Parts: sequence; structure tokens; C-alpha cells
Amino acid sequence: MDNLDLSTIDGLRILQINDKVLLGHQIKPPYYFSCCDGLILLPRNGGNKKSIILDLNIEPHLIDQVNDQYGPVSDYFCTHGHMDHIAHVHHWEAIGAKIHAPIPEHAYLLNLHNFYEGFQFNEALDYSMIHKFAELNGYKNCKEIEPFEPGKSFIFNDFVVNTIPFKGHSRSHIGFLIPQEMIIHISCLGFDQIKPGVDGFGPWYGFNECSIEQYLIDIDLAQILFLERAEILTSSHSYIIKSPDMTPFLYMREKIEKNQNIIDQAILSLKLAKKSEVSLKDFLDMDLFFPKKKMDEFRQQIYRFWESGIISKHIERSKYLT
Ligand SMILES: [Zn+2]
Repeated sequence: MDNLDLSTIDGLRILQINDKVLLGHQIKPPYYFSCCDGLILLPRNGGNKKSIILDLNIEPHLIDQVNDQYGPVSDYFCTHGHMDHIAHVHHWEAIGAKIHAPIPEHAYLLNLHNFYEGFQFNEALDYSMIHKFAELNGYKNCKEIEPFEPGKSFIFNDFVVNTIPFKGHSRSHIGFLIPQEMIIHISCLGFDQIKPGVDGFGPWYGFNECSIEQYLIDIDLAQILFLERAEILTSSHSYIIKSPDMTPFLYMREKIEKNQNIIDQAILSLKLAKKSEVSLKDFLDMDLFFPKKKMDEFRQQIYRFWESGIISKHIERSKYLT
């Protein structure tokens, strides 16, 4: 059965997961990496008096309206330091929520230089590029963060939020398990189908710190938790999944395998063509993952940086590596 659509705010879809938990989704983000879906945990009788927000990074004017309708908000949880999860968190702070974020990427919410250096953009790009990237996505820094170790559980009166480390995606990246509600939110793990059958990019591992090995472990863990402890699965960029639908796990593993296949084939064809050592640039010039040739110079530089990370990780795993 479809989830009840409770949307009343222009530009924001609100779907009911159950009578106390809603999923928010900004319909048209202003830039590529400015928003992500997240959960609204409503106050409960005899329990929490205020709402809790899990990783709903949306534009400030929408945050104000969510606060009017479902607030006040006591606590906000960020899942990791990628731009689409940190850009607007400052405004949740401005409306009075306490901001929690996982160590060490919590620092990226406080200062853009931490984001720039933490993800090692500084090895390939000027700070001005990242400043522009942040500005386009609406980033402003927060004033104060409550840092926590990935894996920590939070108890709010009668309400428990477990954080689950899924570190293949980033050093801090966490999902959430809300046992009472039987909901698992896998955040940015890589299930990004906005509708059944609509393809997305899948698991994303463009930074140095990402790991495909860890990703495969994370996907297995998410699957076990979903099968054993949850009935509903949500994520940062997808539709809602109900048990026992295994689509997210099959999709994510398949995507990683497909990406490996793309690199294996590229290695073979480069070897055939050149018959000598090939460089990362040869792979990048083939536009294997992102259509960089169609992008403006600014986006091209950022995507080259990310694609280098993805390509290197698959080259390391390739059976055609000599
Ligand atoms: Zn991410």
C-alpha cells in the first residue's frame, strides 16, 4: 500500500510512514548537492514533547515551515559530512534545535576549511572552487555541534535512536535504527532509486577514505538489520521500502559489480589500443561514469576529482591488473 501523502508545504513532499514518523523530501533542490531526504519523529504521548529530525537537509524557508507545522524541534541529527547533508543544517540550529553530528565529519559543519581538507579536496582543487561549490549549495556553517561516535545510541524519554556506522561511504557515515518503530534509515549507503525501476548512480565512493570492501560489509549489515529488526527501510535519496522487499540490497551490490565491469572492460580496451602502461587520465578521458565532456569547467573539475577516486578503487580490484 502506498504511504499517505501529507504534503501541504510548497516544494516539500511529506509521506507518512506511521502515525509518529514522517519522511520529508525537497522536490526541487536549488543545486545538485544541496538536499537530502530525512525523517521527522513527532512528539509522543507521555514521551518526547518536541520533534526530532533525522538528516532532513532542506532549504531554510522549508525548515521554517516544517518547524511551524511539526515543531518545535529539540534535536537534529546529521549522518555525515557530504555537502548534501550539511548545507542547510545551520538553519535547524537557528530555529533552536541541538545539532548532533558524527565524529570526525562533525567538524565540516563548523568550518568549510575542515570540509575542504577533510575530504582532501586540497590535493587537487583550489579552495575557491570549494567555496563556490558550497555557496551554490547554500552552505553556511553552524555555531555549535554535539559530536558523537558513530554507533552511539540516543535515548529520548521512551524513544531510542540507534546510530549504525556504515563507513564505506565516508568515515563518519551513519544510518539509523529506530527499534520501536521498526524503521531503518540507511542514509547515503547507495540505494538511490527515486521510484521503482528508475536507475540512479548507486553506491558512491569518490573520496579517498571510501572503501568498496567496507561497502560490501555495510550492505550485508544493513540487510541483516532490515530483515531481523525492521519493517520499513528509508534512505536519503529513494522511495520507501517495505519488508521483505530486497530491492535495495540487490541494487547496491549489482551497481558495484557493474562499475567493476566498466573498469575491467576499459582496462582491456586501453591495453589493446596502447599496448603499454595506461594512466588515470586515459580512464577519465573515456567519461566512464560521469558525462564530464558535457559539463562546464567548474563541474568538470569536481567530477574529475570524484571519478578519479571511483576509478582507482576499481582498478585496485580488477582481475586484469598486471
Ligand atoms: Zn553522502
